[in-house]
Amino acid sequence: MAQPPLPLHQDPAAIAALADRVCDGTAATPAELRALLDVQPGSAAADALFAGAQRIRSRFVGMKLKACSVINVKAGNCSENCSYCAQASDSEADNYRKSKWLPAEDIQRAAETSAENGAQAVSLVAAWWGVKEGTQLDMVTASIRQFSQNGKVRPDVNLGILESQKCADEIAKAGAKVYGHNLETASSHFGSICSTHSWDERMKTIQYIKKAGMGLCSGGIFGMGETRDQRVEFLQQVAFIAPDMVPLNFLNPLQGTKLAHLKPMDADEALTTLAVCRYALPDRNLMVAGGKEVVLGDRVGEVFKTGINCVMVGNYLTSAGTDPAFWSTAAAQYGLEMPTGCTTVASC
Ligand code: SF4
Repeated sequence: MAQPPLPLHQDPAAIAALADRVCDGTAATPAELRALLDVQPGSAAADALFAGAQRIRSRFVGMKLKACSVINVKAGNCSENCSYCAQASDSEADNYRKSKWLPAEDIQRAAETSAENGAQAVSLVAAWWGVKEGTQLDMVTASIRQFSQNGKVRPDVNLGILESQKCADEIAKAGAKVYGHNLETASSHFGSICSTHSWDERMKTIQYIKKAGMGLCSGGIFGMGETRDQRVEFLQQVAFIAPDMVPLNFLNPLQGTKLAHLKPMDADEALTTLAVCRYALPDRNLMVAGGKEVVLGDRVGEVFKTGINCVMVGNYLTSAGTDPAFWSTAAAQYGLEMPTGCTTVASC
């Protein structure tokens, strides 16, 4: 009697066939993505999952890694209450330096260091609700205008929610090439991690960014208590907005934040999730960003087996990152090439 077929998450041949299908341009279904999240670490199915993710990466985005960096231009005392964030209004975390909007010389110096570390783009990030028309928009655009003349790294920004289309248009006109604005998590989960603004406000800002003609950098954070179904929901929502770059973060449960009680995500689960991101978003730039060191420890170099093609280098907003030199060695083990120099690219 014929054996019943194995479920997808236990069937290496079916996973390999799915990867081939994605390479041929047919999207994985939500049910297939959900099944892949259940692949057991260390199994033949896991080997097929990672091999497939690497084939999809090579087919759609190539083997050259990209590197990005962030500068916190206004740190701490945020009005918002995102429960994962050390800078939130109700956070008691004190492990980072708070600052008002940084002076131009400091921004310039940070851009130079990032370029030396191999970053092609640097994003100015501010901890606040977002940008409103008037004096705040004027201050922000003046700073971007100055930063965009640095000639070493592409000037990006990550300035929160935009009040209007005019704000997006003015920021684009000042020279910002890419606007970073994460969806953070599935719309069905957002209400449980933040109550001072809504997921819909985030989505509206993304529409303004796209209409203004800026590139979009938008992803989220895994390990904030969302279910695996919600991870698939989130990936579908990211696919819908089609960002140029998708930062994939893992919760670093910092003391003093509301999510401090959560455990960092299991390392194998994190690597499986990154691989599934490649099946869900085959032709997008996928960047592994914050929390990877905490979740993966000395296995952090394994991120390159999952199909990601970009790393965030240098330090993160409120915690330290890995030495950039480490990434070139780790990437080379998986046949990937780090960018050399600081060539500014037109789009991530
Ligand atoms: S994630 Fe951004 S908006 Fe939310 S609390 Fe942190 S700095 Fe503020």
